[in-house]
Amino acid sequence: MNHDVIVLGAGLAGLAAARDLAAGGADVLVVEARDRVGGRVEQTALPDGRLVQLGGEVVGRAHTAYLGLAGELGLTLVPSYVAEAGFMARATPEGVSAGDPPHWFGPGDDACHRRLTAAFTALAGTVDPDDPWCHPEATALDALSVADWLRSEGASGAVVRLWEIGQLALASGSYERTSLLSALRKHAAVPGGDESEHYDYEDWEGLRVAEGSATVALRMAQGLGERIRLGAAVEAIAVRPGGCTVRLGGCTVRLAGGEILTAGAVVSALPVGPLRSVAVTGVSDARLASLHRQRQAVAAKFVAAYDKAFWRESDLNGLSECEGVLGSTWPQNEGILSALVPPERFGVLLGMPGHLREGELLRDIARLYGDEAHTPISSYIRMWGTDPWTQGYVTQWTPGDVMAVGPLHATHEPPFYVCGSDQWVAGYMEGAVRTGRAAAKEALLRG
Ligand SMILES: Cc1cc2nc3c(=O)[nH]c(=O)nc-3n(C[C@H](O)[C@H](O)[C@H](O)COP(=O)(O)OP(=O)(O)OC[C@H]3O[C@@H](n4cnc5c(N)ncnc54)[C@H](O)[C@@H]3O)c2cc1C
Repeated sequence: MNHDVIVLGAGLAGLAAARDLAAGGADVLVVEARDRVGGRVEQTALPDGRLVQLGGEVVGRAHTAYLGLAGELGLTLVPSYVAEAGFMARATPEGVSAGDPPHWFGPGDDACHRRLTAAFTALAGTVDPDDPWCHPEATALDALSVADWLRSEGASGAVVRLWEIGQLALASGSYERTSLLSALRKHAAVPGGDESEHYDYEDWEGLRVAEGSATVALRMAQGLGERIRLGAAVEAIAVRPGGCTVRLGGCTVRLAGGEILTAGAVVSALPVGPLRSVAVTGVSDARLASLHRQRQAVAAKFVAAYDKAFWRESDLNGLSECEGVLGSTWPQNEGILSALVPPERFGVLLGMPGHLREGELLRDIARLYGDEAHTPISSYIRMWGTDPWTQGYVTQWTPGDVMAVGPLHATHEPPFYVCGSDQWVAGYMEGAVRTGRAAAKEALLRG
């Protein structure tokens, strides 16, 4: 059967694209490799009913596309962990401390940190997030890592360490291996906020959907009904060159098992990792080379659910930055701690037998919050970095990547459209929704 549009992947991007395409009158089919929708948003429930998020969780006030969609779906946004009272903890091999300044700071470090934050935000103001390539110093800024830039600006070792532990907490790749241009672009993409911070938590992480982050995907899927086919892994896409229109047909999608589907246009909402294994023809070499040059940070998520938020008794808010196997913790729901294993530590988990992983991670949490951490009601480890249908966690830009991916980043070659969080500046659920809706709009305009 011929469709107007086939959307590849039923994550937030694919579902948002398909929802708008269907609303615009297109006959759309979504094909999804897994036996569930949502991709990197996934949830389960504890026996007591508390929802547990195993993937993407929080958004910020600057994430307007996501917030708009959540509103359309009738979902409620509530403050996330940022509203918790108490201190953030930091753990390094030589100590654990709560609040600011971090335990390794000495005289002058705080002033140095504030000076460099101001310099970073000022430099970010010179970058156009939609066209970072036009910056007169684009190549040089991209070649430099954030850590090298900090040192070149006179940062003390203690200040570099503070920025780095914050980056380990986000798990999108060490600042030693993050392009300065990409970091400036990310900052420039959500202007405003607290200019005394180089990462504003309210802008990026201050809110969450009360009904559960993965409910956003489930609600969209409900609306799409039979238009979604699960267990349908795409192996090949053939696009009819020359820009046929949605109504004319001409694109084919081959599924594992050999079935061929046809459509007027294809919207790829696949993460950049799995997309590399899909044979694509009829799209320019330049477009494909750019897509294939993108990469993802490989990370794992750990969730430990407890009866109660026992860390509050020590005046801690559950938020931490760590130099252990874990890079961070934060409370995702009452008594439930989320934690990330950054790419630099992912191998530690991979290299140990599965049954030892939980104990290893709980030891890090106990170091922060005490022995009660050793006995959660339930815990979950999700190795997103080696999940075959994700092969990563969020977009990573190592030095040189922004220029190598180039201005074709996130562009379409009708009737081949791309969307997904990787097609925005820095991943995130905002990137998925924003690019998914934009791809649908573009396809409908040309249809
Ligand atoms: C642990 C973790 C924590 C995160 N935390 C946050 C957070 O707090 N806030 C935030 O904003 N973002 C967060 N993110 C990022 C966010 O979840 C993702 O950026 C977003 O959900 C990605 O949506 P997507 O639709 O672009 O891709 P995906 O959700 O990855 O969807 C792609 C879909 O394509 C399918 N697929 C892959 N290959 C094929 C194939 N060959 N054929 C058919 N289907 C295929 C996949 O199964 C998947 O369903 C987190 C991500 C992870 C993993």
